[in-house]
Amino acid sequence: MAIVTRFAPSPTGYLHLGGARTALFNYVFAKSQGGKYLLRIEDTDKARSTSDAIHAIHEGLSWLGLEGDAPAVMQSEQEARHREVAATLLENGHAYRCYLSDAQLDTLRQKAKEDGVALRSPWRDPAYHDTSGEQNDDFVIRLRMPDEGDLSISDLVQGKVTVTATQLDDMVLCRSDGSPTYMLAVVVDDHDMGITHIIRGDDHLNNAFRQMVIYQAMGWDIPDFAHIPLIHGQDGAKLSKRHGAVGIESYREDGYLPEAMINYLMRLGWSHGDEELFTMAQAIDWFDIAKVGKAPSRFDVDKLRSVNHHHLREASPDTLAALILDKADAPVSEDATSRLLTLMPLLTERAMTLVELCQGQDYLIYDGTPAMTEDAAALLTDEAKGILAEFADSLPDALDTLDQLKEHLNAFLEARGLKMKHIGLPLRAALTGTKQSPSITDIIVALGVKEVKRRIESICK
Ligand code: GLU
Repeated sequence: MAIVTRFAPSPTGYLHLGGARTALFNYVFAKSQGGKYLLRIEDTDKARSTSDAIHAIHEGLSWLGLEGDAPAVMQSEQEARHREVAATLLENGHAYRCYLSDAQLDTLRQKAKEDGVALRSPWRDPAYHDTSGEQNDDFVIRLRMPDEGDLSISDLVQGKVTVTATQLDDMVLCRSDGSPTYMLAVVVDDHDMGITHIIRGDDHLNNAFRQMVIYQAMGWDIPDFAHIPLIHGQDGAKLSKRHGAVGIESYREDGYLPEAMINYLMRLGWSHGDEELFTMAQAIDWFDIAKVGKAPSRFDVDKLRSVNHHHLREASPDTLAALILDKADAPVSEDATSRLLTLMPLLTERAMTLVELCQGQDYLIYDGTPAMTEDAAALLTDEAKGILAEFADSLPDALDTLDQLKEHLNAFLEARGLKMKHIGLPLRAALTGTKQSPSITDIIVALGVKEVKRRIESICK
């Protein structure tokens, strides 16, 4: 059987971490089985759905590489089909028209609560229709839930879960204005899209039983379900805005790489041995839904940062250099790319995020003396300038390797009876404008002799 999964977000807000992880698990599961992964935007709640949210969902998914294998299905566009299925359910007796007024409903709800059972309308009984007659057009269509027995799901994550049929209320399929409810729409769309596996948050587990009854009433195959535990914050409470939970786009803005987000989100609830750092291809290779845990996972920003650091180290230096240069706000040096590429292993060593990687690289991407911090400027005493000037004079026209430079520097220091501490900090100040930077010898090689001389000369004049 060809596997088809879907991610079905409601566009009532941004794409958050939990949603992104649901999308990812559906994607990885489908790909691990050679199947298809589809996207459906559940925009039936017209009051709460916004085009901004739809846009943010697409942007977020495309950044993560999780757009569907086919254009997204818009649930609101399937409304005629949802109504058609409701009509079929009415015809085959699995649904009924319910004419209860709000006041009657309140009374019945109260009674059902006292009896510890779910709401069942008297209109479910055909005989009630005969005696009460159909009153007006003001009715909703309700699903006739089974009268007795149990309903079980063999959930791929939760295991076998059972409820008693009498716990399920005769839920509304179409409202009094004829509009289909989410519960009906989701089943019809999943069936029509040929979904074989539904992977989603375990807050939907109770819905699965209700939805199952619609599948049975229509004689449709019931998909497999996998309800994954929600993501919690460090304090164990469900992840919320209080924990700083924000749309996926803020992680992008904060300098996280999509491959790091994928890696990190995979580990929220799933594991493969002791593997912590991996690529999407490896996740697809290894994914086993049986290895998704039942306990909620905890979001840990420090871990995300360290996963991001790993992926920065693995990323193509050319791509990273291009990203850094992209942020430049003035014309960059002709040599900027080669300087960045030479130093990239050292730059990524010190950065946890792309934002950090882009910070403080002005001395590499622009020619000329960099802007000086106060403490760097303080290092450039007359004595230090004297040593720097001599060093600049001593440099040959070209020094292509780190070894050549080190040899030259050692000879220079020895000849003058100096130690590295006499020149290291002033050199760093003159060449980078700061007291902190990657190794100064690597910087000299990256900048090249000509630029080093130019910077020292402009400081010493
Ligand atoms: N649209 C629902 C939500 O965003 C998901 C429904 C489902 O996956 O079945 O919570």
